Amino acid sequence: MNYFNSRHETSIPISGSNELFLVHRIFCVGRNYKKHIEEMGYKESDIPFIFFMKPPEAVVTNGQKIAIPDFTNNFQHEVELVIAIGREGLRMSEENALEHVFGYGVGIDLTCRDIQIEAKKKGRPWTLAKSTPYSAPVSDITPANESGHLNEGSIRLSVNGVNRQKSNMKEMIRSVPKIVSEISEIYTLYSGDLIFTGTPEGVGKLEPGDTIFAEIDGLQSLTITIT
Ligand code: MN
Repeated sequence: MNYFNSRHETSIPISGSNELFLVHRIFCVGRNYKKHIEEMGYKESDIPFIFFMKPPEAVVTNGQKIAIPDFTNNFQHEVELVIAIGREGLRMSEENALEHVFGYGVGIDLTCRDIQIEAKKKGRPWTLAKSTPYSAPVSDITPANESGHLNEGSIRLSVNGVNRQKSNMKEMIRSVPKIVSEISEIYTLYSGDLIFTGTPEGVGKLEPGDTIFAEIDGLQSLTITIT
């Protein structure tokens, strides 16, 4: 049998390679840095495992321009470490999880904060706030056999040359193996899946004309312009 249709393919360059990383799904972890949890106004001491998803078409690669959705008045940046899964797995232990990680990038979880706040108040889904087109810019992916696996190191984001977010990945409440293990308790993870691992403090509003620069030590950087 032949397929009636074909799939839209979204891909990301792999650093130091001619190959492209074909994106399958995008998982995003929330509330993974204590100071960001505080700036969002949460007071809980027991941090739940929460996550949401973006469609693969939300990926935007390095150097591209992004328009602010016209239904938001507060479009915000959240710089995050992005895990690129390279091997299928279900119910992976933390000990085995890293064997399934192909590499890493730096990404920005672009968020319509006003829509998200409204959704929280009304008990509605976050989809419109988090999963808009072009809401997941990601740098070129660096294979883990070059970068090593990341459990610490500087993560930063600046807008028009002014630093907005600066932290260290050792501040993450859930580590890379913990996150991979927890998601794989529910979903089979496939090669091509991306996982955004949560943002540190300093999230803020973007305006047309802004240039965003995001970087993580040892990975390719990410530059995005807002139009
Ligand atoms: Mn986020």
